[in-house]
Amino acid sequence: MVNRNLLKEFQKRLGRENVFSEEADRLVYSYDAAVLKPEIPGLVVRPVTSEALSHAVRLCNENGLPLTVRGAGTNLSGGTIPKKGGVVAVTNALNKILEINEEDMYAVVQPGVVTAKFATAVESRGLFYPPDPGSQAVSTLGGNVAENAGGLRGLKYGVTRDYVMGLQFFDVDGELVKTGSRTVKCATGYNLTGLLVGSEGTLGVISEIILKLIPLPVHKRAMMAIFNDISRASETVAAIIAHRIVPATLEFLDNFTIRAVESYSQVGLPVDAAALLLIEVDGHPAQVEEDADKVASLCREMGAAEIRVAKDAAERDKVWEARRSALSALAKMKPTVVLEDATVPRSKIPDMVLAIEEISRRFDLPIGTFGHAGDGNLHPTILTDRRNKEEWKRVEAAIEAIFDKALELGGTLSGEHGIGLAKSCFLEKETSMAAITYSRRIKAALDPKNILNPGKIIGESP
Ligand SMILES: Cc1cc2nc3c(=O)[nH]c(=O)nc-3n(C[C@H](O)[C@H](O)[C@H](O)COP(=O)(O)OP(=O)(O)OC[C@H]3O[C@@H](n4cnc5c(N)ncnc54)[C@H](O)[C@@H]3O)c2cc1C
Repeated sequence: MVNRNLLKEFQKRLGRENVFSEEADRLVYSYDAAVLKPEIPGLVVRPVTSEALSHAVRLCNENGLPLTVRGAGTNLSGGTIPKKGGVVAVTNALNKILEINEEDMYAVVQPGVVTAKFATAVESRGLFYPPDPGSQAVSTLGGNVAENAGGLRGLKYGVTRDYVMGLQFFDVDGELVKTGSRTVKCATGYNLTGLLVGSEGTLGVISEIILKLIPLPVHKRAMMAIFNDISRASETVAAIIAHRIVPATLEFLDNFTIRAVESYSQVGLPVDAAALLLIEVDGHPAQVEEDADKVASLCREMGAAEIRVAKDAAERDKVWEARRSALSALAKMKPTVVLEDATVPRSKIPDMVLAIEEISRRFDLPIGTFGHAGDGNLHPTILTDRRNKEEWKRVEAAIEAIFDKALELGGTLSGEHGIGLAKSCFLEKETSMAAITYSRRIKAALDPKNILNPGKIIGESP
């Protein structure tokens, strides 16, 4: 809890109705979508203007209070768990789309804008904002930027980082810093935008984002390739790209996930299939038809038992809705679900898929695997019950085994979910102590009192 005088100061600067100190209010901001121990913050605030957000930052810094900024709290790495207590600032009232510029193809938004709402708003103008995390119906653009979120379209269109042209953020003193510009090119000064993207609220508090938009693809073709052999499915992923076709989406679901999704959403998935590839190509109609034909025949050559091409937009949407429900479907099966995002070069997907199956057997744990196979980003999802201590030990060992395998195959600890609290203890395995020390120096220079989301990514200096 913060003391009475400070509470009054927050109320004065942010408005009484935007400051929450009751235990019940604080409790709901003690956790996020990661399976980690909750920590109850001392205070929750909801700034309704950028100025109020800067007051919150300033008050925290002046009074030595840790500050955790929170969008929708959907991150899967513990990024919004207020590890050291202090203040949680929720950005959901900062939810204005300030500008959509059709001529210069950019938009300016506040951090609390919900990702899917923004995508729909730009689509209505014939423009396209591709990053589409599975959580897009609730996640915020501020959270996406701070996590460098990916999504189903990463293969062809890249991730959030590729669309951030500029930012406004508050440094730890509450001073407004402007980075980047509204121009396609910008070579002015250090790349502070790049430093902030993916910094998980540890280096600054984002108050405005300039996002690049691109023309909306005019034509799309989606299909489902059904495989009776999981290895053939995973080998097909690399084969498609090797044939110089870059689908907008190339998703993989194993049998365990197919059955979970079908029982959850009844969209007619083939429950006996060993694996599915869900593929969408987009672009100019002539090119799309040619690519779709090529992909379909390639899948057949690689051993697909059946190819189902979506006949219309409704059928296509149904397939993608089913894919987006994979995590929810798996989560219904057990009290605890741990979703990982270890990522490998896409040519190593077959090895990674087999390794996950072996890890599932070795630790005697059900693991459903699905994910953005086209960019090597699989989501092995462990179903468990956190209350079972013996089983949880096996879960922790299985998680480490998954990371070790991904690194052995030349991959990375996180394709899109960030490091947060969940993976900071593994960071040295992928990077080096020198890289961690370098990062800690940056953090110490920009946030000497360790106010901004302390304990995340790089842990604490020894
Ligand atoms: C069902 C489900 C599906 C998912 N699918 C995907 C997926 O496909 N791809 C993917 O990348 N992720 C996915 N995620 C993870 C998650 O949705 C993303 O990490 C998302 O970007 C988090 O957005 P958020 O608004 O919930 O941010 P939060 O969880 O609230 O915050 C995330 C981080 O950003 C920081 N932050 C938030 N706002 C600001 C700000 N204004 N300034 C500075 N720092 C800030 C927080 O401190 C925290 O460290 C999924 C999660 C779920 C639950």
